[in-house]
Amino acid sequence: MKLTEILAKNKITLSFEVFPPKTDANYESVEKAAFGVASLSPSYMSVTYGAGGSTSRNTVKIAEGIQEKYGVNTIAHLTCVGACREDIHNALDKMKAAGIDNVLALRGDKPKDFVGEPFTDYHYASELVEEIKAYGDFCVGGACYPEGHVDAVSKSDDIINLKKKVDAGCEFLTTQMFFDNNIFYNFLYKVREAGITVPVIPGIMPITRANQVANAVKLSGCNVPERFKSIVDRFGNNPAAMQQAGIAYATDQIIDLIANGINNIHVYSMNKQEIALGLQNNLSEIIK
Ligand code: FAD
Repeated sequence: MKLTEILAKNKITLSFEVFPPKTDANYESVEKAAFGVASLSPSYMSVTYGAGGSTSRNTVKIAEGIQEKYGVNTIAHLTCVGACREDIHNALDKMKAAGIDNVLALRGDKPKDFVGEPFTDYHYASELVEEIKAYGDFCVGGACYPEGHVDAVSKSDDIINLKKKVDAGCEFLTTQMFFDNNIFYNFLYKVREAGITVPVIPGIMPITRANQVANAVKLSGCNVPERFKSIVDRFGNNPAAMQQAGIAYATDQIIDLIANGINNIHVYSMNKQEIALGLQNNLSEIIK
């Protein structure tokens, strides 16, 4: 089913993101973890893609398994960095054959070990969006950044570029993680002001280990509120307490979003069934 049909129902959705195995050696354990999340029957799931193509086969395989075994709709991520048109067509053919209707079209970042020119046939995700829409009957989404993308000259430039992506055919947007909902509300206001009308789905990352904070900041440059820093200071050395506090913080963010009219929430639960389950339990009456 196309994600736009799910979103059009105007019901609260809670979706989870998982990643595919990076190598064949860890295939079974990573698949088991991803399937553990699928067994919770979320509204839909998305499966990430290793930029540069390293895990492309596994993205489709995991997404197909989730749909067939658990009846959960999926979105397969696809990046265009280092890819030529033929690579993209091959990836889309595999998705179609596997019954995947939804693609999250991304530029991706140049992998560390990549040799050569990474952007030849495609320079931005908007070009990939256009290609996918022209190639087949897919529902296509894209990424957006409430605090601005790290390469963007300014936040307003980033929103102008985001409009190009939507004009190219992007039907929904999922945000980078953020830890302060006011940043999201502010972004949403600016996005709507720029004439972008597609659904914008907030991406919530439950931080359940202290070292995840540094990684999250490095990856996305996101702002870490004082309230969250205190949690890490107090519970960072106690893994069980940190997990509980991280799930509680994410729960709080989600409740505030839903209370303010945001019906569709995406969670970066990353193959951790206990985290996805913790959130589902905390929100059981709200997402019923
Ligand atoms: P784009 O939309 O192309 O934007 C990249 C930069 O280019 C921005 O600064 C933008 O302002 C600028 N830009 C865009 N269009 C133009 C234009 N026409 N002219 C000038 N500048 C322009 N990475 C992975 O490798 N695998 C994944 O599975 C994955 N999943 C993700 C899921 C989400 C929800 C998010 C938020 C990110 C994900 N990423 C993933 C990371 C993503 O690949 C990187 O953040 C990457 O740096 C940008 O990708 P993009 O699709 O947002 O790029």
